[in-house]
Amino acid sequence: MDFEIAKSAIERRGFLDVEIDPTLDLFEEIEKLKKEKNAVLLAHYYQEADIQDVADYIGDSLGLAQEAAKTNADIIVFAGVHFMAETAKILNPNKKVLLPDLNAGCSLSDSCPPADFAKFKAQHPDHLVISYINCSAGIKALSDIICTSSNAKLIVDSLPGDQKIIFAPDRNLGGYINKVTGRNMLLWDGACMVHEIFSLEKIIRLKEQNPDAKILAHPECEEPLLKVADFIGSTTQILNYAKTNPANAFIVATETGILHQMQKDSPDKTFIPAPPTNNCACNDCPHMKLNTLEKLYLCMKYELPEIKMEENLRLAAKKPIDRMLELSAQLGL
Ligand code: SF4
Repeated sequence: MDFEIAKSAIERRGFLDVEIDPTLDLFEEIEKLKKEKNAVLLAHYYQEADIQDVADYIGDSLGLAQEAAKTNADIIVFAGVHFMAETAKILNPNKKVLLPDLNAGCSLSDSCPPADFAKFKAQHPDHLVISYINCSAGIKALSDIICTSSNAKLIVDSLPGDQKIIFAPDRNLGGYINKVTGRNMLLWDGACMVHEIFSLEKIIRLKEQNPDAKILAHPECEEPLLKVADFIGSTTQILNYAKTNPANAFIVATETGILHQMQKDSPDKTFIPAPPTNNCACNDCPHMKLNTLEKLYLCMKYELPEIKMEENLRLAAKKPIDRMLELSAQLGL
């Protein structure tokens, strides 16, 4: 498609649909563009393997937010989903933040519309609002502190025991944090479509077939699965556990993109993706996987699509993120 036509179709399609010369080595081209434009490429562990391999930094939500907060690059290219690129923009108003496909959303973020949440919050005026980073800028602006799965427990623990708290948007993570902290936070009823559809029955069958394998689960998974897990942790914590634990096999209950780093870190170990309830053998996030190497190359070349945000919203959403980054630094995370 011609560039001008592709540009005018961005709103509708979410990405630039321009034809690419098939003889180009996209890995080399992306490296060249990074240097030419002083651009940094941040990628989430759930991205496809090619994108992870060409990234400057691969991380989970906390690591990516920390990296976005300290970068000196002029352009931040975010290979992840929309709320992550938004977070980078909130922290870097004067930098250009690019996302290869604007349609890379998040079912968890979508499960908490700001207008509904504002009403819920108004019903509990004496509660502090802690929101998981997987939410829109609108929800961040209504929050007091943002957290990630890496720091949620420590952030909740750092607050006075009698502090009333609303936790949004993930009911599974909130329920898990309630359990490990002994709190009774009010939970918004949201969930991630990827972590909710693991099949406990199939996972138990897999464990019977691989009795020495450890089950690793993300706290966004439902409670019955968390109960059978050998280890529960954020993406980074799961990666570290798989690297350092002496077991040779692991059943991994989170998005399958993480298996690429696990296998790179420990080539001799076996990593089995936990199966979902549908007919697939593994569990990909359809939003994360909207980004491709081709879309990434085009977005770096033409500097589109770009994340834009209204300044008042950005300032309101920044406060709770800053609070998280300060608390994380104090807590040594
Ligand atoms: S894995 Fe779940 S929480 Fe993460 S981006 Fe996909 S839908 Fe959102």
